[in-house]
Amino acid sequence: MIKSIQIGIISVLTFLTVQLASAQTVEQLNDKFRQLSDEILPTANVYRTASGAPGHKYWQQQVDYNIDVTLDDEKQRIIGTARVKYYNASPDSLRYLWVQLDQNRFAHNSGERKSAFASEKPKASYTALRQAIHEKSYDGGYKISAVTDSGGADLSYIINDTMMRIDLASPLRPGQQMDFVIDWSYNILDARKIRARGGKEYFKDDGNYIYEIAQWFPRMAAYSDYDGWTNKQFLRNGEFTLEFGDYDVAITVPADHIVSATGLLQNPDEVLTEIQKQRLKEAETAKTPVMIVTTDEAAAKLDKRAKTTRTWRFRAVNVRDFAFASSRKFLWDARGYYQPENGKTVMAMSFYPEEGNPLWEKYSTQSIIHTLEVYNRYSFVYPYPVAQSVNGPVGGMEYPMITFNGPRPTKDEVTGEKTYSHRTKYGLISVIIHEIGHIYFPMVVNSDERQWTWMDEGLNTFLQGLAEEEWEKDYPTRRAEPYQIVDYMKSTRQVPIMTNSESILQFGNNAYGKPAIALRILRESIMGRELFDFAFREYAKRWKFKRPTPADFFRTMEDASGVDLDWFWRGWFYTTQNVDISLDNVRLFNINSRDPEVEEAFKRAKHKEKGVSPDRLADKKLKKRTDRFPELLDFYNKNDKFTVTNKQRNKYADLLDGLEDWQKELLSDKSNIYLMDFTNRGGLVMPIFLQVSYEDGSSEDIRLTAEIWRKNSEKVTRMLITDKIVKSVTVDPYWETADVNMDNNHFPRRIEKSRFDLFKTKKPRDMMKEFESKLKDDKITLDKKKKSR
Ligand SMILES: [Zn+2]
Repeated sequence: MIKSIQIGIISVLTFLTVQLASAQTVEQLNDKFRQLSDEILPTANVYRTASGAPGHKYWQQQVDYNIDVTLDDEKQRIIGTARVKYYNASPDSLRYLWVQLDQNRFAHNSGERKSAFASEKPKASYTALRQAIHEKSYDGGYKISAVTDSGGADLSYIINDTMMRIDLASPLRPGQQMDFVIDWSYNILDARKIRARGGKEYFKDDGNYIYEIAQWFPRMAAYSDYDGWTNKQFLRNGEFTLEFGDYDVAITVPADHIVSATGLLQNPDEVLTEIQKQRLKEAETAKTPVMIVTTDEAAAKLDKRAKTTRTWRFRAVNVRDFAFASSRKFLWDARGYYQPENGKTVMAMSFYPEEGNPLWEKYSTQSIIHTLEVYNRYSFVYPYPVAQSVNGPVGGMEYPMITFNGPRPTKDEVTGEKTYSHRTKYGLISVIIHEIGHIYFPMVVNSDERQWTWMDEGLNTFLQGLAEEEWEKDYPTRRAEPYQIVDYMKSTRQVPIMTNSESILQFGNNAYGKPAIALRILRESIMGRELFDFAFREYAKRWKFKRPTPADFFRTMEDASGVDLDWFWRGWFYTTQNVDISLDNVRLFNINSRDPEVEEAFKRAKHKEKGVSPDRLADKKLKKRTDRFPELLDFYNKNDKFTVTNKQRNKYADLLDGLEDWQKELLSDKSNIYLMDFTNRGGLVMPIFLQVSYEDGSSEDIRLTAEIWRKNSEKVTRMLITDKIVKSVTVDPYWETADVNMDNNHFPRRIEKSRFDLFKTKKPRDMMKEFESKLKDDKITLDKKKKSR
């Protein structure tokens, strides 16, 4: 019995293996144009259509928050109470709710710490090692003091690393609402020591702090039709995925602090001075930014730190998160941006310490408004009343209506003079464009950052490039030109764009650069601007305030443009192949006229082209026997094998008799027929762009679509019929495709100029001379040096 059962199982397994293997034939797998919907994209349903739009039963949860938070400037702590209203709009009954506890990433023994790995090389940067050491003493993570229902009764919960499950006494049915309250606190981390998206920065010159407070309250995890509850822990890179809702937040800070936050300030009369309110009013219609808090006004507060507190109240409608910044060091400038598209004015505002000038007062608010102008055109009209840029310890991070941007000039320690590098200047403008751009993607187009970094970083970097190009002539844009991604595309240490955020190698190139440039190539060289821009806007509009997945993007771009792009998504997003199209040969043909007089003469001429070695050539001059005995010559000495015979002439006449007039005409056509042979060495199928130069000095651009590879993705031949004579052919003459090897793009091949490096051979060490060399600083004694070992 047992034996026979075992045999049974084995045969079932064998059968399954055979079935799986034959599900796709080798020929099908080689077809780079096969449709993604057949095998990779999820099946369309009532929530998400096959066209890439939200389905007729699309739903998403809504979560409203009413939060009281205190920023303790003495102990640098956050203490808060959140009253959460969770609306279950899903068709499912929920037995528990999951909450994201992002601060727990910084707790001892967090999942991130427990999964941290080191480089195998025994070295680290100073900042990396300082972080590793500081993390051991920083007491991070949420201290949750109570989770209760609206009546004050304790709710049972369990914390699993950066997630918390709240168990419900009875299931939350579709359409029902659940109210609960969480009390918590945490120690604000030192964002100069630990790289994070929020934290404090201490200024030792005046003893004050700037606080950038983000991911600071227990936020409801996303529950979606495609993933259920988010169950990816926060390990650093996969930022977050959240629900939309309305926020009322009361922020209590030292009375002399200025607060910038997601949302509209509700109580200006309680927290702003008359003059500040007047200036704000003036800023609404001003032509250039107006200072709301000046350098002198901020400086006056630095040593007399307020002992009392003040509460700033903000309200934000339909946002997926809430962040704020607070400091007595803040200067504040503002200018209204009137959006002609909807007749509303957005207040663009910047908050920065004196240390940020002269860069910040000149560029920050201008960069915000510039971003709105450009992004509104390519996506949708900015939907919120304020857009803010704050300078503090965070290098660059976005939240709804508020962004944190790091670059600052450098101050000379001795002279106090402030200067900035080219990189700092453009880094600041670029990071503000980038982070304000993120308010569109993913703060409004709510893609799932915990899974797909490219969906917000890639799309946003693409638009950032367009905005930078409209800032000034020759703006140093880093991720826009196809050639800028070539080194990455050639590299071996990479994974496809469609890789989970936490597993990405070469993060910046993979999730920012490659998708941004892929979209640029689609727009400029594959779809054309008109079709691309319409489709991209359609995606943005369909999914604004909703939750798109990669499939929704891929499908919408095709659906709205009528261009099948499955080959493009497959190659660029699901593989690490690159573009390397080689033009191997260009062959010239003329039509075989079949006329023996013409064709035999042609063969004779070709035959004569055949080379002979110099010695054999000399042999030809030797005296021959037939010179002495001419009677040995006959018919074959007067005719070579190319002599035309009557039989051939008759055959030709017969051939002509059997042809129609148009066929005869073609036989005498004098066109030059060129066959151009291409091989695909990089693997990615791409359009072939050609520039053909002719002997008469003219040239012609020929643009072939990627579908030329549809029957054979490795080799393809293209015919060119012309009256002219081709001198040379170049593939991708305008560097549009990120071709990783331009050496094989020319026919005939060209010799490229380059540089040959010389180097000096190292001299052996002269220890005796080193020993005798003079000490630079006499304070370093030999004794001390010994001790330090
Ligand atoms: Zn970004």
